[in-house]
Amino acid sequence: MIKDDCIFCKIAKGDIPSATIYETSDFRVILDVAPANKGHVLIITKEHFDNIFQMDAETAGKLFSLATVVARAIKAETGCEGLNILQNNGEVAGQTVHHFHLHLIPRFKNDGVNMSWTPKETVATEQEALAKAIKSHI
Ligand code: AMP
Ligand code: ZN
Repeated sequence: MIKDDCIFCKIAKGDIPSATIYETSDFRVILDVAPANKGHVLIITKEHFDNIFQMDAETAGKLFSLATVVARAIKAETGCEGLNILQNNGEVAGQTVHHFHLHLIPRFKNDGVNMSWTPKETVATEQEALAKAIKSHI
């Protein structure tokens, strides 16, 4: 499915130009236009999924397989020491473009990129109950 008013559908189809690195029948791999670091890449699905909650397992499998190859290419070119994979789902999670995309962000020492949070406290018994409760939906 393609969504008419969706910018990433247009980029994925090639109707809007992008700095494309690679393309398969399922994905377009591009440079982010406003990167966290030089070499910040997005893997965009060609089919429109709003987010991970809509994505099928087969596409997700192919996506991560491609991500391994792209991550190594970014490392080879940028010389990054590390790399974050980020994928936002829903406005509350920071998603601004509501068409599934995976961020690959190369990381360098003291690069000033911040993805930290304050860890919450846990109680072992509550953790066990929560693990079981989530499992019940799988
Ligand atoms: P998110 O906040 O996870 O939805 O990320 C959206 C990302 O898309 C941001 O990092 C933007 O910089 C990037 N972005 C938005 N428009 C374009 C575009 N036309 N070409 C490349 N990247 C884009
Ligand atoms: Zn779309």
